[in-house]
Amino acid sequence: MYDKNNVFAKILREEIPSKKVYEDDYAMAFYDVNPRAKTHVLVIPRGEYTDIYDFTQNAPAELQAGFWAAVRNTVDKLGMRENFRTVANTGHGAGQSVFHFHVHIMSDERFKTDF
Ligand code: AMP
Repeated sequence: MYDKNNVFAKILREEIPSKKVYEDDYAMAFYDVNPRAKTHVLVIPRGEYTDIYDFTQNAPAELQAGFWAAVRNTVDKLGMRENFRTVANTGHGAGQSVFHFHVHIMSDERFKTDF
């Protein structure tokens, strides 16, 4: 069950700060607060979905398409096209700690935007 007070819901509502990389009507991307790669960014949809299974089963097609386009736009904004990996931890068994669907984008190279 989706908890409206999870930390990413608060970031979407701008109740707590984040170091934003990219945002549009469908998604927001920001740096992971505890990076485990030289570049470590999270992309989250603007919608209440706990994980990738929930999102792909229940989100409207427009939001799903918009979300994956936002993942690509985030990669483009960071200039990572040729060097990144994506991870979507799903469920306690896989170590998911925030139950608002998110994709990790990571690289062993340091990419950043001009803040
Ligand atoms: P997961 O373990 O896949 O659920 O990933 C959750 C990620 O969220 C972890 O990598 C955390 O470091 C990250 N995280 C938790 N709180 C924040 C926050 N306030 N801002 C940015 N990243 C966060």
